[in-house]
Amino acid sequence: MKEKLTPYLKNLSGLPAIAAQYLATTAEPNACDLEYDDPLLEDEHEVVKGLVHKYPNRALIKVSYQCAAHCRFCTRIRQIGTNAGNLTATDVSSIMEYLTRHPEIDDVILSGGDPLYSPGITTQLLEQLRHIPSVNVLRIGTRLPLQLPGAFQRNTIKELLSLIDETGKKKPFFILLHVNHPDELTTEAMDVIKLLRQLRVTLLSQTVFLKGINDEYDVLHDLYTRLYHAGVIPYYLYHCDDVNGIGHFAGDIAKETAIATRLTATLSGIACPTYIIDIKNGHGKIPVPLNFISDRKNTIDFNGKMHEYH
Ligand code: SF4
Repeated sequence: MKEKLTPYLKNLSGLPAIAAQYLATTAEPNACDLEYDDPLLEDEHEVVKGLVHKYPNRALIKVSYQCAAHCRFCTRIRQIGTNAGNLTATDVSSIMEYLTRHPEIDDVILSGGDPLYSPGITTQLLEQLRHIPSVNVLRIGTRLPLQLPGAFQRNTIKELLSLIDETGKKKPFFILLHVNHPDELTTEAMDVIKLLRQLRVTLLSQTVFLKGINDEYDVLHDLYTRLYHAGVIPYYLYHCDDVNGIGHFAGDIAKETAIATRLTATLSGIACPTYIIDIKNGHGKIPVPLNFISDRKNTIDFNGKMHEYH
């Protein structure tokens, strides 16, 4: 995956947490110590071009493989930056036909690539998705507010946001911001979050544990406190996926579990994400048990003391 940063991120690249997420390093080629290119088996479950149907009631649409900037830890490192994911009008029709033939799919997630970075195709998809009666819930995953906040002044994005707002009036609509470090929450990014809060959507966040970047309790406590105060609900905190080329970002599960336990003990329930491992071979997202239960009879409280259940 080629290095790609926006001018906005270049200006921030003096910050270690930004540089480490976006600047290519010579460590990468030697870091391919993990065996999978596609551990979530998305390619295997791609039922028509751009549509991944892995779980019975949910489907993922990969809007494109294009993003404003390339995160070095991206799970889809094998695809991002290529044109292979560009969807034609025929592809969009095939996606809608499949969804209509599968009314058990009630929840559709638009991802990619970044759907807000490709507002044209995302608008085309949403215009049709919103009219499929069996699709009850829509979600969009994005990192654009943190990579190119100035883009939210563009007419194409303003029009897409209006469509999201209009759709959110009829169906629950979730925007999932991918945020990993408090340094990403600049004044410009926070202004975009304020703008998104005006829409009829629920704002959630997702974070990936990144070794040496955010795998510290204080960093994540600060991140989640700031997101919560900004009206964003932290949703998932992922262990970095087992993907070829990004192994140097994957941290120690015991360390991450200890951090997630401490976050749970100190943050409000709404401000605390669920620590997740997306099990390879496409077996799904597994919540990691935290260090609150010692055995079948006892629990461990927020102060580390043991108590019987009853
Ligand atoms: S914005 Fe998301 S899809 Fe794009 S490179 Fe970053 S993590 Fe991957």
